Amino acid sequence: MEILDGKKISNQIKEEIAAEVAQMKERGEKVPHLAAVIVGNDGASMTYVNSKVRSCEKVGFESTLIRLPSTTSELELLKKIDQLNQDDDIDGFIVQLPLPEQIDTQKVIMAIDPDKDVDGFHPTNFGKMALDMSTFIPATPFGILELLERYNVETKGKHTVVIGRSHIVGRPMSILMGRKGWPGNSTVTLTHSHTKNITQIISQADIVISALGVPHFLKAEMVKDDAVVIDVGITRVPDESREKGYYLAGDVDFENVSKKASFITPVPGGVGPMTIAMLLKNTLLAREQHRGER
Ligand code: NAP
Repeated sequence: MEILDGKKISNQIKEEIAAEVAQMKERGEKVPHLAAVIVGNDGASMTYVNSKVRSCEKVGFESTLIRLPSTTSELELLKKIDQLNQDDDIDGFIVQLPLPEQIDTQKVIMAIDPDKDVDGFHPTNFGKMALDMSTFIPATPFGILELLERYNVETKGKHTVVIGRSHIVGRPMSILMGRKGWPGNSTVTLTHSHTKNITQIISQADIVISALGVPHFLKAEMVKDDAVVIDVGITRVPDESREKGYYLAGDVDFENVSKKASFITPVPGGVGPMTIAMLLKNTLLAREQHRGER
C-alpha cells in the first residue's frame, strides 16, 4: 500500500509556483492576484479561506480577503462581484461556499466573469471541462487528477466509482475520470443517496472516489483488494477531549481500508492540501491568460 501524500505533493506544487512567480518578478511582471470573498463567519469556511490567503502569500501572490457580514443581501454581493470583475488588478477570485440562505448561490456563480472564475464553477468553464477544452478545473477534482498523475496511478480501462454527485466534487470528478486522456479513460459509475446496491457497485471498483461527507462510510469489506481509494470527505466530528472541540474525519475507515488498498489518501493530508495548491495553479493560469491585456 502506498499513501498518496497530498501534503508532500501540494508542497512541491507550491514550490513550483513560487519559482514561476519569482521569475515573473525578475522580469518586472505583475504577479498573480487572488481575491476571496467570504460572507458571514462560519468557522470551517473561515479556516478554508484563511488557509487559501496564507498559501497565496507563501508563493508570492498578492491576495485580498473581502469579509462581508452574514446579513449581506444578494444585491450587495452581486455588486461586489461586479467590482471584482471590473478590477484589472485582480486575476481571479472565489466566493466561499456555502452562502447564507438569503443569497441564491447559482446567481452568484453566474455573475462571476468566467475568465476570473478560478474555482471553475461557472457554466462556461464547467461546459469547457466537459468538452475537454482548456479551462479552470474545479480545484478538488483537479487536485485528485494531479495526485493520480504524480503517483503514476493507472486509470485506463479501470472501473471508477465516484460516491457523491455535488457540483464541486462528485459530478466534475465523474466527467474527468471518463474523459479521453490520462488520468481518465476509465469507466465511471456515479453513485449517490438514491443508488441501489451501492455496496455491490463499490465492491467492483478499481478506483473509489468518496465524496459524501459521512465519516467512516467506506469500510474494508466494501472495497476489493488493491483498490485505489481517494477520500475527499472532511467532517468535523464533535469531541470534547480535543483542544478544538472536534476532530476531522474522512469518509473512509482508513485504518482497515488501507490494509487492502494499493493506494490511499489520508485525512487530513490527502485531498485537502491538494485543493488549495490547485486553486493557486488556476490563479497562475488566470494571470498567464491575462498577460498582455493588463
Ligand atoms: P454534498 O454537496 O453534501 O454532496 C454529498 C453527496 O453525497 C450527494 O450527492 C449525496 O447524494 C451523496 N450522499 C450522501 N449520503 C450518501 C449515502 N449514504 N450514500 C451515497 N451517497 C450519499 O457534498 P460535497 O460538497 O461534495 O462534499 C462531500 C465531502 O467532501 C464533505 O465532507 C466535504 O467537507 C468534503 N470536501 C472536501 C474538499 C477537500 O478539499 N478535501 C472539498 C470539497 C468538499 P444526493 O445527491 O442524492 O443528495
